[in-house]
Amino acid sequence: MLIKTLLNKVERFKSFVYGSARLMAVNGEEALVIDIKPRSNSKPVCPECGKRGKTYDTQPARLFEYVPVWAFKVFFQYSPRRVLCPVCGIRVEEMPWGFGKEHMTFSYQVYLARWARRLSWKETATIFKTSWDSIFRAVQFVVDYGLANRNLDGVTEIGVDEIAVFKGHKYLTLVYQLNAGARRLLWCGPDRRIKTLLRFFWEFGKERSAMLKYVCSDMWAPYLKVLAKKAPNALNILDRFHIMRKFNEAIDEVRRNEVKLFKAANQENVLEKGRWLILKRPENLSEKQTSRLQDLLKLNLSSIKAYLMREDFQQFWNYQRYDFADRFLENWVTRTLQTDLEPMKKVARMLRNHKPMIHNWFKAKGRLSSGAVEGLNLKAKLTIRKAYGFRSIKCLQVALYHTLGELPEPNSIHRFC
Ligand SMILES: [Zn+2]
Repeated sequence: MLIKTLLNKVERFKSFVYGSARLMAVNGEEALVIDIKPRSNSKPVCPECGKRGKTYDTQPARLFEYVPVWAFKVFFQYSPRRVLCPVCGIRVEEMPWGFGKEHMTFSYQVYLARWARRLSWKETATIFKTSWDSIFRAVQFVVDYGLANRNLDGVTEIGVDEIAVFKGHKYLTLVYQLNAGARRLLWCGPDRRIKTLLRFFWEFGKERSAMLKYVCSDMWAPYLKVLAKKAPNALNILDRFHIMRKFNEAIDEVRRNEVKLFKAANQENVLEKGRWLILKRPENLSEKQTSRLQDLLKLNLSSIKAYLMREDFQQFWNYQRYDFADRFLENWVTRTLQTDLEPMKKVARMLRNHKPMIHNWFKAKGRLSSGAVEGLNLKAKLTIRKAYGFRSIKCLQVALYHTLGELPEPNSIHRFC
């Protein structure tokens, strides 16, 4: 009796009542099974048009998994009626606790999805003695609901980023909302082609796209083309995060080439394990790393030259006025083009070619925090790393929306976790 009282506090279904509860074996395991019955004289609801109709017949009893209690699995047992709908024909009735074909109730799916945001999907599946696929379906249910019910009003600042997924050169394009206080993942789609970003704008809609004021992105040409066309009123900004990422890629390339030369000449590889020393900002190094970096700086290495060039460039971001900044930039580019470090020269040429976008960064200063895209990018990477067992792009998309989308959840009265 107590179980029914508790259940009625947690979740009540209009037109249905809880019946008796008992322990019985389900899939070889003892579980708590609670009957559900329609209220007497209630008519079943057609799932398609939402109208009530006559009962055509009653199907065999089925189990719907609910939120577990004291490590017992919990199931609702119900015999669905078929409704004879004058409009739609014979249909299995709508049940307020779950979809007809899914064996998990809505509440249980929301419950699992909440845990899957905190733990990896694999851990969640193990803890709740369920399959990885069930976790995926639960998260997908919550994400689908969220995407269908989210509010996209007031999006005026977005960032476009790409992220490498899986081994090889597979990419996901991510579009973030960057408005202060409303930072979230708006969209993600496979690849980083013109088509990819066009799909975002198509889904986002013309009216909303016209409201965009700031767009920050990478220098990836397909993105730039689409942004210029589809967000005509937006200032396209090349931001600090994306620029400094290019520097790091260049430094890494110089370092890799140098290591190859060491190997070819049978020289000691002084750069071994040095990757992070030169990629990180000096203020982010530990004491031990700092002293190792000091030793490296004494050597006449290309990697170190590249490193120092990046550190020199950091001043650029401190300028308040663009004309001064521009003079500094020109100077830096000229000096860099005189070196023999091809990857760094590539960065220099790229900066020179994208000056208008860099100028926009100064125009928008204070509007867009340079850390916003970086923070979201880190979170996305973490989600992907935590996601061992994600077998497809589709799974990754669902996981990213789930952790970064700030999506609304299906309403429920009781918060289980
Ligand atoms: Zn109907």
